Amino acid sequence: MAAVLSHDELEHMAEALHELLAALHEELADELNEIEHVRHLLKRQSSGQSDRQAVLEVARRLNLDHMRHHLESIAACNQALERINRGRFGRCSKCGEAIELNRLRADPLVDSCLSCHG
Ligand SMILES: [Zn+2]
Repeated sequence: MAAVLSHDELEHMAEALHELLAALHEELADELNEIEHVRHLLKRQSSGQSDRQAVLEVARRLNLDHMRHHLESIAACNQALERINRGRFGRCSKCGEAIELNRLRADPLVDSCLSCHG
């Protein structure tokens, strides 16, 4: 039987996941606000030079890959929390074996063991 996480450690991970989720939501909300801001600027009838500058500035800051990555991380967080709730956390989603503890501790979002991962 492979080593499993202690109850305390599991709770600690759930807490960390909730914190990560909150931070990701916040970042995504910020990014959506930026988009809203750009839309607002673009809708204005007389877009002056300064508005165009502002739009370009936001466009430069916004990174769609970032946003996509945030969304994927949120999904991964939710899946990890779901695994905790169902008592499946720390099990490989592919082969069902225990995931190496050092990998889980480094990144609670991993959902497969080393041999399935590669
Ligand atoms: Zn596996």
